[in-house]
Order: sequence, then C-alpha cells, then structure tokens
Amino acid sequence: MVEIGILDLQGDVKEHQNMVITTLNKVGVTGNTHRIKTIDDMKNCDGLIISGGESSTIGKLLLNTDLYDMIKNFKKPILGTCAGMVLLSKSTGEEQPLLGLINMNIERNGFGRQKMSFEADINIYDKIYHGIFIRAPYAKNIDENVEILSKYNDKIIAVKQNNCIATAFHPELVDDILIHEIFIKEVIKCVE
Ligand code: GLN
Repeated sequence: MVEIGILDLQGDVKEHQNMVITTLNKVGVTGNTHRIKTIDDMKNCDGLIISGGESSTIGKLLLNTDLYDMIKNFKKPILGTCAGMVLLSKSTGEEQPLLGLINMNIERNGFGRQKMSFEADINIYDKIYHGIFIRAPYAKNIDENVEILSKYNDKIIAVKQNNCIATAFHPELVDDILIHEIFIKEVIKCVE
C-alpha cells in the first residue's frame, strides 16, 4: 500500500493523479493519491510529485504554507516535472525559492517561451518516449552524483539523484506510464 502525494498549490495536479492511479493499477500495487496543500496532508506520504506550473509562484506558496522545510527534509522519493524540476534544483540564476534537492542548475524556459513549446520523441531508459515540452527548462552544471536520464539536442532534460527524479517534459500529458512507473518503483523500494 503506497500513498502518493501530489503538491496542489498550482499546476496540473489532476493529470498526475490520474497517471498515478493508472500506473498503480498496471504494476499491480495498491495505493492512493493525496492532494497536498498543507503540512498535515503530507504526514502519511510515501512519495511526492511536484507538477508543472510556474516555479516562482509554487516556490513562494511553499514558503507560505511551511511545506518548504517539510519537503526539503522529506528524504522519500520525489518526482518533479517541468516547474517541479526547476524547484528541485539549486539555482536558476534568478531570485526564487528552490529546494536544492538535486545538484544541478537550471536554465528556465531553456527552449524558448510559450510559443516555442514543442513535442518530440526522446530516448529514455532505452526506450523511445514522446516528450511534451511547455516552456521547458533544461539542466546544466550537474554534479557527478546526478545521473543523466535523457538529453534532447544536447540539453539535459531528465535526471535522477538518489530517489529524486526530474523531467523537463510533462509525463502526465502522455499515455505512456514509463516515468510514473519508475517513480512508483522508487517509492515501493522505500516502503519495503
Ligand atoms: N517555465 C516554467 C517555470 O520555470 C515551467 C513551465 C511548466 O511547468 N510547464 O516555472
């Protein structure tokens, strides 16, 4: 039985919730999703998803709700997608609250603004995967303990450090459960 929290301050929470339920069913694990708005909501969480949205806004809301410290000290698996990837980083070169849980810097909107959003087939875990990039960031200046999971046009778009996974693209917007499955497997490893 696993409890997956989805940070619900801003962004595409419902899509992640649906994807987690689909993934749990497919891998045959019982579990639940919880929307996380306060520190109380996080008490029984075995893993956390930080969705896309606007990282500067989500960061400020994290500080306002005291969730910032709770997540920084969570130590359990976290999946950060797009703005979630930005929040997991150490620096964006701008003034904004970041969790610094993955040793990387981020180029926000690294592929251009909204109208430069795109879809592309990428390689990840030896598979072809359809990535949806919406004002997507990319990672740079990563430490050697950060594993690169995927690059697109020489830019780092997916990484893993210990049990934290970050993707520049939106895995909640495709039919492929690959990324959520990898995350759920990390969660299962942790609760066993
Ligand atoms: N560019 C946004 C940011 O830096 C992220 C966009 C997204 O999550 N789709 O917060």
